[in-house]
Amino acid sequence: MGRTFFPALIACFAMAARGAPVEKYGHRAFAEAPAAVLSEVGPYRDTGRIVQLRPSAAQAFLKMAAAAREEGVGILPISGFRPISYQKNLFARAVKRYGSEEKAARWVAPPGYSEHATGWTLDVGDTAHQNTDIEQGFSATPAARWLAIHAHRYGFELSFPPDNSQGVNHEPWHWRFIGNDDARAVFHPAPPKKL
Ligand SMILES: [Zn+2]
Repeated sequence: MGRTFFPALIACFAMAARGAPVEKYGHRAFAEAPAAVLSEVGPYRDTGRIVQLRPSAAQAFLKMAAAAREEGVGILPISGFRPISYQKNLFARAVKRYGSEEKAARWVAPPGYSEHATGWTLDVGDTAHQNTDIEQGFSATPAARWLAIHAHRYGFELSFPPDNSQGVNHEPWHWRFIGNDDARAVFHPAPPKKL
C-alpha cells in the first residue's frame, strides 16, 4: 500500500460515511445554513414571504438594491435561504411536472444540492415586471441588465450563466454571494492538495 493510496482510501470512506454523493445531476452538495445566523432581506411582493440570507450577503444585497434604486431600477428579493425540507417538496413537484428527476434537475436542484440551502444565494426580480419572476423573460428587464453590469461590485455572481459546465439551464435571476472568504470557499473551493 503506497503512501498516496492510503489517504485517498480514507477520503473515500469518509465520503461514503456521509452517505451522499458530492454531486447529483450536475448540482453540487451543500450544507444547510443554521437558521439562527440568518437575517431578513425583505418580503417577496404581496405574498409576504420573508426572504432571508446570511447577514453579509443580506447587507450586500440591500446596498446593491439601494444603488440600483438611485438609478431608477427596482430589484426585489424573491427567494433566499431555503431549508432542505422545503427543497424536497419543490423538487418533487418539478419531477411531476418534467417527468423525471434528471429533467427536473435542469430547473430545480435536488434536496441537499441547492445553493439556496447555504444562505448565500438568492433569486431576484424586477419590481416593475412581476410577470418575469423566475422566467427567462427576466433577462430583458432593467433589473437584469443593471445586475449584469454592477452585481460583481457587490460580491454577487450568476450561478448558472448560459451554457454553464454544470448543464443547468440559464437562470438570470439566481445570484450567489462570493464577497467574503466563507462564501467564496463554499462556491469556489480550493482544489485538494496533491499528496
Ligand atoms: Zn435560485
